[in-house]
Amino acid sequence: MSHIKDVTGGTPIVLESLWKTYANFVAVSGIDLSVGAGRFCTVLGPSGSGKTTTLMMIAGFVAPTRGRILVSGRDIAALPPQKRNLGVVFQNYALFPHLTVFDNVAFPLIMRRVPQAEIAQRVERMLETVELAGLGGRYPRELSGGQQQRVALARALVFEPRVLLMDEPLGALDKKLRSSLQIELKALQRRLDVTVIYVTHDQEEALTMADQIVVMQGGRIEQNGTPEDLYDRPATAFVAGFMGDTNLVRGVVMAADKDGTLRIDHPTGRRIIARASGFQAGDHVAASLRPECLSIESPDGPEEPENAWDGRIAAVTYLGDAIRYHVAVGENRPTLAETLVVKAARRGTEHRRFSEGDAVRVRWSRSDARV
Ligand code: ATP
Repeated sequence: MSHIKDVTGGTPIVLESLWKTYANFVAVSGIDLSVGAGRFCTVLGPSGSGKTTTLMMIAGFVAPTRGRILVSGRDIAALPPQKRNLGVVFQNYALFPHLTVFDNVAFPLIMRRVPQAEIAQRVERMLETVELAGLGGRYPRELSGGQQQRVALARALVFEPRVLLMDEPLGALDKKLRSSLQIELKALQRRLDVTVIYVTHDQEEALTMADQIVVMQGGRIEQNGTPEDLYDRPATAFVAGFMGDTNLVRGVVMAADKDGTLRIDHPTGRRIIARASGFQAGDHVAASLRPECLSIESPDGPEEPENAWDGRIAAVTYLGDAIRYHVAVGENRPTLAETLVVKAARRGTEHRRFSEGDAVRVRWSRSDARV
């Protein structure tokens, strides 16, 4: 996108015990959230977790049952949507089909009674920013999906809002277009310095774009932190599972040393050594082992060393740049059968490939087991 500098300046958003109930159903359950000025916050969660309802309350399309919505420290919860001055890009908030691209983008300025000459200037500049210069005369049906999405973005940003709310804005696009728009959108957000709250159910999209990720489930916030926090230090098994593929291995803590070393026994009789604090003997825990953190090798030597489980390859999947192995590690006690998923990067021809049925040893380091 072009490099015109037109700073609007982001503003902080704070949600204070925000609730939405429908009859007896709680859609959003008293959430607290703070998004700093100019930050890109992604709200992630499964279908029905309350993401859209939260965004609609901020936008003003849904009235909160209780709670406060502070933008720059001012409670906007009682204001109608058009008085909130927030940019909004929702998947179902389509372009006006009977208006040209120019008129679509000009619409918010006309509503705000901006003088005609200034409208022309600002719309042209905005179209340049989203790389649609020269297409102002077209109608939405004459544009590709990605171009239409950029018009929607231009329309949301043309009045220089300090907050941009987006609900699955790239949901309808194919994977390739999606990833290029993700990068463009992020660069534009940085340049305009606008605070963004972005709803998606796609964890990869969240990791690509966000400075801050909020994972919701059942109307509550499960975890709020940086992408690194959520991926590497998930607070719950749900977050670990939601933030990408993981092996969740459940067991019981047998010993918790003062230095933070944890011995966890697994029902198969195997053991996990991990580093974690705040647990004690007898606790039932889940250890998250990321597939890319596991290594796979031939089971040499009679005994399994620390954090090494012997098993047999149950399935092999070629992913192009990596190979995914499903390793059955509970075969001597079939009722407790466990499978570990291992993702091994391919390193040219040196990578040793295993086949279905091969005996293997899966290993990981203490610090790779997140409890
Ligand atoms: P999705 O990813 O599918 O859009 P979501 O996380 O955005 O899901 P919401 O749309 O916020 O979820 O919905 C949260 C819950 O509130 C859902 O169980 C939904 O059925 C319920 N809900 C939403 N709107 C209403 C309504 N007007 N009346 C009753 N229940 C509602």
